[in-house]
Order: sequence, then structure tokens, then C-alpha cells
Amino acid sequence: MKTAQSIAREVQSGESSASAELDNSLSAIRARDEELNVFLYVDEEGARATAASIDERVARGEDVGPLAGVPIAIKDNMCQTGIPTTCSSKILEGWRPPYNATVIDRLIAAGAVPVGKTNLDEFAMGSSTENSAFGPTRNPLDPSRVPGGSSGGSAAAVAANMTPLALGSDTGGSIRQPAALCGLIGMKPSYGLVSRYGLIAFASSLDQIGPFSKNVMDAAILLEAIAGHDPLDSTSLPEPSPSLVAHVNDGVAGKRIALVRELVEGADEDVVISVNRAVEALKDAGATIVELSIPEFRLGLSAYYLIAPAEASSNLARYDGVRYGLRVDAEDVAAMNEATRTAGFGAEVKRRIMLGTYALSAGYFDAYYGQALKVRTRMIDAFKRAYQQADLLIGATTPSVAFAFGTKTSDPMSMYLSDVFTIPTNLAGEAAVSVPFGTGEAGLPVGVQLLGPGRSEAQLFAAARVLEIAEDRS
Ligand code: GLN
Repeated sequence: MKTAQSIAREVQSGESSASAELDNSLSAIRARDEELNVFLYVDEEGARATAASIDERVARGEDVGPLAGVPIAIKDNMCQTGIPTTCSSKILEGWRPPYNATVIDRLIAAGAVPVGKTNLDEFAMGSSTENSAFGPTRNPLDPSRVPGGSSGGSAAAVAANMTPLALGSDTGGSIRQPAALCGLIGMKPSYGLVSRYGLIAFASSLDQIGPFSKNVMDAAILLEAIAGHDPLDSTSLPEPSPSLVAHVNDGVAGKRIALVRELVEGADEDVVISVNRAVEALKDAGATIVELSIPEFRLGLSAYYLIAPAEASSNLARYDGVRYGLRVDAEDVAAMNEATRTAGFGAEVKRRIMLGTYALSAGYFDAYYGQALKVRTRMIDAFKRAYQQADLLIGATTPSVAFAFGTKTSDPMSMYLSDVFTIPTNLAGEAAVSVPFGTGEAGLPVGVQLLGPGRSEAQLFAAARVLEIAEDRS
């Protein structure tokens, strides 16, 4: 499949057209979607209209934008006017948002063509897409295995060449982890860089939207197009979109990069081998490598599984059978609320709501939620100290390559551990990218994670590009 960058160039120059590129994308979807269960909804009609209007504007000599005619897949927890948006939950079945998420408006302004909504773990809670109410997505590289989660559908869309780009959301790892398992670039931007307006909330202090792509340049183009201040999101950084594309080839010469012991601890051997090879590649490109231990990283998982469920229990209170989607009628309002929530939410979502409600309840607040917030502050301090010794950090994205269906569904704790290396970044509100580097068990891709302080996206892409070049050469 062509890169997003080359599609945009060809559409803008008239060598190709948005409509022809969309046709390619739709036939790739038709070829494998039944097998892989990637899309919950394909907006063929809307996408055709968007593509046709781009082609008309090109014909009139207009500059359509950096993503001219590029098909893109959208995780189904982002609102698009009139398009069914489910969060892979029965509770939202049939709901059509009356407005666009800011990212959708920005994609359209950049010339992109949203083709449809992708599968996810219900309300983005999970690491394998097995928690979707509409069945799991399969990993295009090995359909007997999971694509990761929660943005598994978006990762699979790009891995299966259905679209060159996709958007996901990352609360504890949900972009980086599926990117690692599907062999893609996936970035969690700094908190506040990309507007959350129209992203259906899971844990508002952690959620961020970010890009999936097959190569670093495409991810940089996409992130640059969607980032930047949005007055509709009160947590949006008060700055314009950073310059990322211009820095992709900056390299790492003179940078200090720290290999973090806790970011490889417990990982499978094939994963550790790839991380060590990536460290060598960065060294060969002129980086200085140091080794660090950040023991606070071991506390991330426990703090996350109090903070995220606590916020979720509050955010998900709005699904009451009155305002959105599903309603199961009963004798009075309270009984209707209960019947609707019982029927509409899946097991993992119920587990999180109960954990969160308990963590916030009177008498337990200080011991659980309050304690987790203290750990979060320690995590932020630990990162700050690390960035006095290094510009960027490196480790694994996930403990293993893509796993088989059913291997972790009976034990929530083992599923939660899939995000042990990605969670610290979310708690600190910082940025990190997963880069495919080498293969492990069964020839499946391994993801190496680069972490940076807030607003280090340009540096992270530059380091990711060094690994991409090293990988192409080997
Ligand atoms: N797997 C983690 C969870 O289930 C992270 C999910 C996410 O980033 N959306 O909470």
C-alpha cells in the first residue's frame, strides 16, 4: 500500500484522485473485513461524497491540505455527525452523534477521507479487543491472535492495508500496545496536545487521541494535522500544533537516551533482544546510551487501576437509558436505569465501574483513590529526575508479541499486565511512541517504546525514524 504522504502528493498533483484512493481502500476492506472484524461501520456514501469534493477542489486548483485524499479509519469512540458511534457497547447501540469530534473536523480540513469506525474493547477497557460487544478483531498478521487493544480495530485497519492511517485513543497504552502487536508506529501524544472534544470519555485525566501508521513520516503528518489548541477542550494546551514533519529526519546525534530497567523487566526474551538491538542502532546513530532504574514505574499499574476506574465510574454514570442509545423499560425510573445498565454494559465495564465506585466511596477514598494520586505525583517526579539524566527513555512497549485468543480473558490481572510498560507515560501526561523493531516468536513484530517529556513529539519521531532506517537496512 502507498504511504499517506505519497497518496496526498499524487491526489494534489492530479496523478491520482481521492475517489480512486478511496476505491482501493474500500476493496481492501471488502476483501478481509469479514474475516478480521475491523470495522463496525463503513461510511461508504459519506466517504465517496468527501472524496468527490476533494477531487473537485483539486480540479479548481485549490490546495486541499497535507492529507489530500488519504483514507483514514476512526476508532469508534470518537463522534462523527450522523455516524453510529458505539464504543463497542450495546448501551450506545443506535446512537448517532449530533456533532463532530474536533479531530474529525481537523482531518477534513486537512483533506483526509474518514472511511469508517473501527472496533475496540468496550469503552476502551482492555488490551485485546476481546471485550467488544460486537466480537473480537483478529490480528491481520496472524488471525489466530489478538491485534491488541483497546484500539485493535484501528491497528488492524492499517496492518491489513485497509487504510494507511488510523486514529486511536490511549488511556493506559491503547495506541502503543496494539501498534506493537500489529507492527505499526503508534504514538500517545502529550496530554492536551490533541483535543479530546468529541472523544467519548473513559478516564478524562489520562485519555489522549493519537496516530497509527506504517511509517514515521505518516504519523508525523497526521499528528501535526490534528494537534493544537481547541477552545472546546478545557485541558487543551494553549499552543498551536507543533512542527513535527520538519524534524522527522533530525536524527539522534548527541542525544542521551536511557535504557530503563523497569521497562524490560519481565518481558519475554525475544522482546528484550529487540530492545537491545534498538539501543545499539541508536548508539550507532550517535546517541549516548545510559542505563537507569526508575523503581516508581513498578507502582504504575496499581495506581492506574484505581484512577482509571474511578474516573470511568463517574464518566459512565451518564448512560442511564434516558439520554443515549439503549433503554430497557421497567416499572419506575430507578428500575429502568438498573435494567438498562445491566443489559447494556459488558462484564469488564461493570468490573471497572464497581472498582471505581468502591475506590471513591466514603471511608475508602483516602486509602485508595487518594493514595493512587500520591503515587501519580511520585511518578511525575520520577520522570522529571530521569529527564535530568537523559533526553529520551527506551524500553519495551509490551511484555510479549501478539498472544492467542482466550489466553488472558479468564484472568483480568494478566490482561492488565499487558500495559505495564505503557501506563507510566499516561499517569505523567507525557509522550511515547511504539516503533516496530525486529521480530519475535512466530515471526511476529516486536514494539520498542521511546518515551519523552511533555511536548517531545518531534524528538520522539526523530528517534523513531532512526530505528526505522536501521530496520530497513538490516
Ligand atoms: N488496557 C488498559 C485498560 O484496559 C488501557 C486501555 C486504554 O488505553 N484505553 O484500561
